[in-house]
Amino acid sequence: MENCVFCKIVNKEIPCYKIYEDELTLAFLDINPIIAGHVLIVPKKHFENIFDIEEDYLKAIIEASKKISLKIKETLKIEGINLYQANGPIAGQTIFHFHLHLLPRTEGDGIDFIKWMGKMAKKMKAQEMEEIRNKLAIN
Ligand code: 5GP
Ligand code: ZN
Repeated sequence: MENCVFCKIVNKEIPCYKIYEDELTLAFLDINPIIAGHVLIVPKKHFENIFDIEEDYLKAIIEASKKISLKIKETLKIEGINLYQANGPIAGQTIFHFHLHLLPRTEGDGIDFIKWMGKMAKKMKAQEMEEIRNKLAIN
């Protein structure tokens, strides 16, 4: 994909701080880390996001996320990691090549989106829950 920054990283046209690579995936440090050890995992083939990524690439990314998470936990001595992934501009996606963020967490790191989610949580009526379940149920 022309003009895609992550394709350029995959093709070694621009450099990155590589962490891990396998047949289908590449992982490297985010250029503007939220926290030390902020890693991005990308498929080596261009997909925009969750809506078009092929399953074998998605599986490979999830498998890589476990390997890298264990490595981060071991070496950075952190206790938690958030996996974060945005799909579409409305969801905050800014680079339109699928990527999974790994965010190592430490006490007092100031990353508060999980707490923010808790604050956003609402009660929904049983009937509304049924309606949305009926729309979403796949099997
Ligand atoms: P998004 O906002 O789409 O979820 O995340 C895009 C991420 O890509 C951002 O965290 C941003 O810092 C990172 N990023 C953008 N351009 C580059 C780049 O050229 N190299 C690296 N390593 N990361 C980048
Ligand atoms: Zn791309």
